Amino acid sequence: MRRDTYKHQGLRKQLIEAVRREGFHDELVLDAMYKLPRHLFLEKAFEEWAYQNVAFPIGSDQTISQPQTVAIQTSLLDIQKGETVLEVGTGSGYQACILSLMGAKVYTIERQSKLFAKTDILLRDLGFVAIRTFLGDGYAGLPMFAPFDKILVTAGANAIPENLISQLAVGGHLVIPIGDADVQTMWRYTKVSDTEMRSESFGKFKFVPFLKGTQ
Ligand code: SAH
Repeated sequence: MRRDTYKHQGLRKQLIEAVRREGFHDELVLDAMYKLPRHLFLEKAFEEWAYQNVAFPIGSDQTISQPQTVAIQTSLLDIQKGETVLEVGTGSGYQACILSLMGAKVYTIERQSKLFAKTDILLRDLGFVAIRTFLGDGYAGLPMFAPFDKILVTAGANAIPENLISQLAVGGHLVIPIGDADVQTMWRYTKVSDTEMRSESFGKFKFVPFLKGTQ
């Protein structure tokens, strides 16, 4: 197992300061980000990139989201301890671990089998045994574990997936980037009642695409 050194911790502090400078001040989220060694989610050769405030390739044509984006999405979810959260797009597993450190019961789905297998092992190695990982199509959600208090989509969708709305608990939030391939708007939907949704938008982002089916 690779180590977390004082040097890594120092770099992590600087990363947190960089996220703060961008105007982000949710201390609970920053705390979780300070605790989690982001370099362990990248190949050893690219470790030095882990503490830059940028997205980075993780293989299989996918990226680990920019720290700033992880901070914003996590904060929009407004996680309370013990809540169940469904994450769509496990990727490197970094975001799932942040949610777990915030006290959520995390369910996460990935559509790519190679990435799924690699990340599943990493999460166990890091001791995040409570995170439940699934290989599948996030468009379907996880009906057998619904309703979820919160749902987070970490890939760019072109429309709001109906299944995810129906798997959201009343009072819960769905945080999802929606747009075309080049740019998406971050939306937070709140399920006000069984039939009513409220929506708020939070600026422009660029995610890898939310694709149908598994591979
Ligand atoms: N949350 C990740 C970032 C992932 S990038 C992290 O912390 O590293 C988006 C991920 O969504 C990719 O791994 C991609 O394969 C996955 N994805 C795209 N469409 C999907 C779908 N329909 N179901 C599940 N995962 C999907």
